[in-house]
Amino acid sequence: MAAVPDNEENRASCVCIGCPSKPDDGMAFYCVAGKSPAEVERGFCACSWCPVWSCYGLAGSSYCDEGS
Ligand code: SF4
Ligand code: SF4
Repeated sequence: MAAVPDNEENRASCVCIGCPSKPDDGMAFYCVAGKSPAEVERGFCACSWCPVWSCYGLAGSSYCDEGS
């Protein structure tokens, strides 16, 4: 797995904002930013639809709860 660069293009590609499991924390891009300080109700995770996820060979999910 390649490290995900923290840049504008990757941040803009993050699909967390449309995810029904996203906590209300003003954050996104959790695979780089790390886990949310808010409580996460885990369920569906949209990461596998994200261009960052496929481009950098990520394999995980629920980064908002698991951390980067
Ligand atoms: S893999 Fe998940 S956390 Fe990372 S940029 Fe994509 S949607 Fe956001
Ligand atoms: S990391 Fe996954 S579960 Fe969390 S908000 Fe992003 S897409 Fe949704």
